[in-house]
Amino acid sequence: MHRKPILALIASSSFLLPAATGQEPLRWKIHDMKRPAPAKVTSSIPLPAPAPSDAVVLFDGSDVSKWRAADGSDAKWVVRDGALAAVPGGGAVFTREGFGDIQLHIEWAAPTPARGSGQGRGNSGVFLMGKYEIQVLDSHENVTYTDGQAAAVYGQYPPLVNASRPAGEWQAYDIVFRRPRFRPDGSVAQPARVTVLHNGVLVQDNSEIWGPTSWLQHLPYQSHPDRLPISLQDHGNPVLYRNIWLRELDEEPRRGPARHQTKPILSMTPEMLDRYVGKYAQDSPQPTVISREGDVLKIKFGFLPPLELMPHSLTEFSLRWTAGTVIFDLDDGGRPKSFVFHIGGDARPAKRSSD
Ligand code: MG
Repeated sequence: MHRKPILALIASSSFLLPAATGQEPLRWKIHDMKRPAPAKVTSSIPLPAPAPSDAVVLFDGSDVSKWRAADGSDAKWVVRDGALAAVPGGGAVFTREGFGDIQLHIEWAAPTPARGSGQGRGNSGVFLMGKYEIQVLDSHENVTYTDGQAAAVYGQYPPLVNASRPAGEWQAYDIVFRRPRFRPDGSVAQPARVTVLHNGVLVQDNSEIWGPTSWLQHLPYQSHPDRLPISLQDHGNPVLYRNIWLRELDEEPRRGPARHQTKPILSMTPEMLDRYVGKYAQDSPQPTVISREGDVLKIKFGFLPPLELMPHSLTEFSLRWTAGTVIFDLDDGGRPKSFVFHIGGDARPAKRSSD
């Protein structure tokens, strides 16, 4: 009897198992034309939007000194009527300075008369760190793959809605970008995230970027510096830019430790804590009540639920979760006569009214 060699059996059974490298992704494929088109939204937000006082102005209508060509030479784009115009074939322009976490405001207009279709119509792009593109495209009545229309994270996330204005009208992107964080070994600790408002309308809501954006390719992250230039794409269309400014964002709140001083906590017996228990009259119709639950002293202000108090000395207590302190005034027997509650710059006295 003919028997199939064992190796052939193993080989044929592998057809039934999804090979790890051959699986299709669960998310949308890049540039899928079946991906639903975002709803159209019109916005009458006025432009230009003036830069706040702490902004770094990258283009004010005349000065292009903050920009360069890829090779470091002067930018090949031209200033026309207060706008920085992409020059087809002139190459991308890059900021001379590098930036990491930013709030970026940038205004742009697609060329008129509108020419071409799909990706060929008013195409440019804002490349955050030179790698992560927020697409610029004339997407007013122009069909293309939705992950490549205006305000898409190119090839990854279509905008939530299509807030595009017609070609020739000024439009704005307000972009909040958090750069990717890499570990010392080069692996990704935190992917980049981006929030975008297009003409004042939310179109990217903290979208987690997979890696550098690209046409056709799915590219993995590669470790890069914390600050890199922003670039504007030359995609062969004379797109206009103006009023470009950014605010550098503090990275500390995202990963820094709290800066408050922790105070040692005094260990007190239930008997000691009971001395503080009672009602205290403040400037409110309802009394403040201090009670004890097990080893924990609690203070109840009016209708609020009781808040936990931590003793630091016989006279100084603090709220456990809130930056408030309660300073007691004790009588000769060590029993509180009154306290002052310090919160948010206020000092609120209260007198003991009864046990
Ligand atoms: Mg583009």
